[in-house]
Amino acid sequence: MIIQKPGRIVEGLYALADIDLPAWLVSAETPSLFDAGITFMGPSYIREIRRYLGDEKRLRWIFITHAHFDHAGTAPYLKRRIPGLKVAASRMAADIVKKPNAVNLIRSLSRDYEEQHKALFGDEDIGFDALEVDRVLEDGETVDLGGGWAFRVIATPGHTRDGLSFYFPSIKALICGEAAGVPDRNIRIHPEFLASYSDYVASLEKLADLDVEIILLSHFYILTGPDARGYMKKSLESTVAFSNRIRRYLDEAGGSQETVVRRIFEEDHQGTGAIQQAERPYLINLAAKVKAVAENK
Ligand SMILES: [Zn+2]
Repeated sequence: MIIQKPGRIVEGLYALADIDLPAWLVSAETPSLFDAGITFMGPSYIREIRRYLGDEKRLRWIFITHAHFDHAGTAPYLKRRIPGLKVAASRMAADIVKKPNAVNLIRSLSRDYEEQHKALFGDEDIGFDALEVDRVLEDGETVDLGGGWAFRVIATPGHTRDGLSFYFPSIKALICGEAAGVPDRNIRIHPEFLASYSDYVASLEKLADLDVEIILLSHFYILTGPDARGYMKKSLESTVAFSNRIRRYLDEAGGSQETVVRRIFEEDHQGTGAIQQAERPYLINLAAKVKAVAENK
């Protein structure tokens, strides 16, 4: 099944507020949030956490897949609003989210969305701030949230170098950020190898070995049953196909990465209505993908 709306996924696991952005609540003995959307969603998340936990102050942890503005965006705001709330991420993500350059980039990418969604936060200070990570997660470790909610941390670099995935064996559920491709409105899968093509493929192969019944995709959709089971293989196929396409276009453009970015943007994004990502982050990411293939990273 392909789920396209927020709410209860299974008992104890909820997609918060806006399915387009990742924020998954697990109401375990240690209530925890997985990823934290874009800044403007902060007050909506508080409302939803209150709805599912009774009191938002019961939330103890935020686990972050990677340090992108649309995954870690509300973490500083939630920390300001919920005393004692802690954040866990990879070592590299922990380093990134305190760097002034990264903080400025996250602020700048969030701003367009904030402009469009002012009504959602009004006068509240939802701004992104340098974020202190309280716990560094290691590849292969298991984190037990109590009440049967334990998950395994899997290093899945390639989209970014700091990427982690979280796998809950008890319900065969996977939270993977953009380690898996993101389907557009036509359910065509767009691979997301921004940092390294070869690492991205290796990470996908790792995820393809997992026994999954639920995949909480980075954006827009939750997959269950057969849609989840076949997804990593399809994601891998689309990754290989996309890199072949980039290679072909690079040949035709005499190696000009800029020309290839423009061409793919025109073919896939401009006026097609298929891609839901805004133009600016789409172009930044596309340039990184073309570069990863061009430079054989
Ligand atoms: Zn990302």
